[in-house]
Amino acid sequence: MIRPKSVRVVEVAPRDGFQMEKSFIPTETKVQIINSLLKCGFKKIEATSFISPKAIPQMKDAADVIAAVDRSTGAKIAALVPNPKGAENAARAGVDEMVTFVSATESHNQSNVNRSIDESLKGFATVLDIATSSKIEVATGIAVAFGCPFEGDVAPERVERIVDSVLGLGVSAITLGDTTGMATPRIVQTTCEHLLQKFGELNLSLHFHNTRGIGLVNVYAALQLGLATFESSVAGLGGCPFATGATGNVCTEDMVYMLHEMGMETGIDLDGLITVSRNVERIIGRTLPGQIMKSGKRDNLSKPVCR
Ligand code: ZN
Repeated sequence: MIRPKSVRVVEVAPRDGFQMEKSFIPTETKVQIINSLLKCGFKKIEATSFISPKAIPQMKDAADVIAAVDRSTGAKIAALVPNPKGAENAARAGVDEMVTFVSATESHNQSNVNRSIDESLKGFATVLDIATSSKIEVATGIAVAFGCPFEGDVAPERVERIVDSVLGLGVSAITLGDTTGMATPRIVQTTCEHLLQKFGELNLSLHFHNTRGIGLVNVYAALQLGLATFESSVAGLGGCPFATGATGNVCTEDMVYMLHEMGMETGIDLDGLITVSRNVERIIGRTLPGQIMKSGKRDNLSKPVCR
């Protein structure tokens, strides 16, 4: 077993979580949350999405968010970029990293962005041109990498084909997304082992949703392979338009709690993060899935005993 000593946690709630919220979160509030997360020690935050405001009105203030977030911590501020126009706007706004995305299956890609996988990949080439001329890194997220709600199982070879294409284009990092929470520890290990064997040194991160309650188990399974970068969402904010009623991303503070209890370093101030999480719950105005913000850490012994 090769367990990493330190783990990189990438916070994605400001993009993956906020985009699911129907009522508009004021720009100042978004910025305040992102800045309070930055204070907790994250080295990278996915702050927004440069998607058309018609598609997701919540993200219409993407440029304003990027302009206002605190850059003094040196953390990488990333943003989702769905097409070349989004890339131009993201470059102008001054993001540190652009994140392109494609699905591992044709049916999910069609339903998500109304394009074939090859058409999406062609768009990436233009995004990379725009990013490279502004010296901005590009990462790619592969959706439904561990299972597709339309097609079921996704063979690792299909994921491999996309990884191969995007690395060829000059993408610097890959995230495998479990968009509808279909990953299991066995599938995670089979797919990731396959990719690690094929590509050797691959800058690979994992993005699990807790849709079926085994998000953290999947993180644990990936840790056994030595994988050490995970995307998660404060308070477990988020969801998926294709899985109604599903819970959101793996909860960041719950994951950080687990990692710290396993003796791994994250560089994140867990107590500070729990405070941010409770604040986010207050702002969103409904109970969010995170557990540690409700129960406190295991050494929080002052709570009355439940009977
Ligand atoms: Zn997600």
